[in-house]
Amino acid sequence: MSNVETRPGIVRLGVAPIGIDPRHVHLSQEHFHLLFGPEAKPRRLKGVKQPGYYAGWETVKLVGPKGELPNARVIFPCRTQTQVEVTRTDAIGLGIRAPLRKSGDLLGSAPVTIAGPLASLTLREGCIVPWRHIHMHTMEAERWGLKQNDFVRVRAGDGSGRELVFDNVWIRAADWYALEFHLDTDEANAAGLGPSDQIVVVEQMPVPSAYGSAPEEFETPGWREFINP
Ligand SMILES: [Zn+2]
Repeated sequence: MSNVETRPGIVRLGVAPIGIDPRHVHLSQEHFHLLFGPEAKPRRLKGVKQPGYYAGWETVKLVGPKGELPNARVIFPCRTQTQVEVTRTDAIGLGIRAPLRKSGDLLGSAPVTIAGPLASLTLREGCIVPWRHIHMHTMEAERWGLKQNDFVRVRAGDGSGRELVFDNVWIRAADWYALEFHLDTDEANAAGLGPSDQIVVVEQMPVPSAYGSAPEEFETPGWREFINP
């Protein structure tokens, strides 16, 4: 047992599987066709755990003033807004100041160029470092005593030798979510995590000051199709 878990007064709310997010891109329909052609259709590579989403065969190159990063996977279906999600290490390599943001909160985020097989497009904003979060079903959240936009403390990497406590983990509770802690590759590597690891949700904590405004949780595009195929 670790010190954190045995410290008096520390509550363990539950255990969650993890999903490690490497750099990836959500494209609007318009941008998808611009980069891959007017007749292009998304080609499914594999599903992701959140219902309705899947990773495509399609990848793009990200270009910034200081460098380029290949192989940013495109996640489908398309969204209303193009959003590029990178790690802090990626942002430094690109030479951009991608802010730590919640998904969908793109106002004033970093500019980036997306290069596809047929064209490139430069976004004035749209590149973020995603805020780590836990997806969970509303009923599961209730069982844990949590709700949408709560924050929790998470213990990760037990047994890895790089055990870490992650503060300020954002709870995203909705009827279309499956239980999963999402963090980026920088965070996962820092805690020595592998793809099949689990984390411990230790306790609820106050809303962090850096959090800013909360965008509305948007429905996963296609989740209804997934529920009622
Ligand atoms: Zn997520």
